[in-house]
Amino acid sequence: MSNLDLLVPPRREDRHPATCLAYGGTLCGSGRKGKKKCALMADADRGFTQGTICPLLPAMGMMLSLPDTAVLMHSAVGCGSMAHGTNGNVRSGHAARRGRPADGLWFSTALDEVDVISGGDAKLERAIREIDAAYSPQAIFVVAGCLPAIIGDDIDAVTARVRPEVNARLLPVHCEGFKSRFMATAYDVVYHALGRNLVPEPDLAGPREEKTINIMNVSSMGRVDEQELERLAGELGLKANIFPVFSRPESFRKAAVAALSVSTCPTHDDYFLSHLEEKYGVPFVIRHMPVGIANTGMWLRDVGERLGLGAEAAALAEKEEKETREALAEFLPHFKGKRAFLSAGEYRSLATASLLRELGFEIVGIRSFHYDEYAEVELDKLRREKGDFTWSVANVQPFEEANLLKRIKPDLFIGHWHGNNNAGRLGIPTHVIYNTAYGYVGYRGAYDLARRLFRKLRNPAFTGRIGRHARLPYRESWYGREPFSFIRSGTGETA
Ligand code: SF4
Repeated sequence: MSNLDLLVPPRREDRHPATCLAYGGTLCGSGRKGKKKCALMADADRGFTQGTICPLLPAMGMMLSLPDTAVLMHSAVGCGSMAHGTNGNVRSGHAARRGRPADGLWFSTALDEVDVISGGDAKLERAIREIDAAYSPQAIFVVAGCLPAIIGDDIDAVTARVRPEVNARLLPVHCEGFKSRFMATAYDVVYHALGRNLVPEPDLAGPREEKTINIMNVSSMGRVDEQELERLAGELGLKANIFPVFSRPESFRKAAVAALSVSTCPTHDDYFLSHLEEKYGVPFVIRHMPVGIANTGMWLRDVGERLGLGAEAAALAEKEEKETREALAEFLPHFKGKRAFLSAGEYRSLATASLLRELGFEIVGIRSFHYDEYAEVELDKLRREKGDFTWSVANVQPFEEANLLKRIKPDLFIGHWHGNNNAGRLGIPTHVIYNTAYGYVGYRGAYDLARRLFRKLRNPAFTGRIGRHARLPYRESWYGREPFSFIRSGTGETA
């Protein structure tokens, strides 16, 4: 039985038992103990934790992007708050793909104290009917946050009851934040809902399309990055079906009949790609993230080899790599020996570190949001090169990061837009590791990032001034302590 036959998808930590959230040490230190160390880390935790990331954050980013679709949060009203931050990407994403911006459509049943006592099923039923009548969306994601799971509301039973009376397809989504501490669970729960409800059955999907490949994007690539991968696929005579963000029904059909599915980030895609292979016979490649010159070449060669285009892919990678290295030559002297610290999701942080090394930076620290076995491919690439560095696994925990940055004093910090404030307040030049308006992916992404970093480092006055006037909220005594001193294994040892 497939996971997608279940009403509720399994948690990420149950599918990947080596997944962990707490490690502090060096890259080579993690490698020396290898798998044994990671098994130990799986039960590691912090004696003090400053926060976590609810899976609803990335899940909302995916769901809100789909056109003609509404998201109904069945939860306390605050659970939808991240939709305000995500909507900018939704608007610009529609504008880039369809020529005009469009807001994400979301609602909340806003469960309150009375609902906690008497149940929220009736409220949910009413909300589904009202949204269907007033907005006529093609599909409604019915999303359970923590509250319904605690009080026993059953979103599957409610949607089954209302389904015959509404025109919209109803997609239950189980995204209760307290059930999984791993943000990556978000991708599984949304893929679960899409796979169960919107991808057509094999006999209805049509004939196999031998020249179409699915390129997976769960919202970590903007349109400019998608275009770069479409360009590379086109050079091999292939058509890219970018899936699932901003997808229309035709894209869902193509997903089921493509010749190959290609992941752009193993953290995101394994759940759904296994399903496409098992149910629809679409094989998949899930190994490299096309961020970085060598990484893009490996990604491209993998695609070519799986489709009998190995020689063509190798020749294309060689040509593109040569041109990119020539174009980058003017920047490299400015980056030589500059010390960089990165912070982001597991794969993004590690692949971008490889790219920065190609540009001549010295990597002095990486903070990855989590670890699972897929990371070993990227970790091995970094371990093979000379130069060890601090590696932290932490879902947020800015107190650890502030301590590390004070000690390491990098020349550059690359992290998410909401995670650059520690570095900025310390006067360290910062850049976003992901922004849908910018290029990061493929050969063009390598060049675009280098050009932006050149400008940033040529004039770091902005963060320099912030650093002279801003303060971090921690006491001096914290900076005197070892940054990972709160990490413990399940047996109480320092991990
Ligand atoms: S952790 Fe629970 S209550 Fe908090 S935002 Fe996520 S779903 Fe809502």
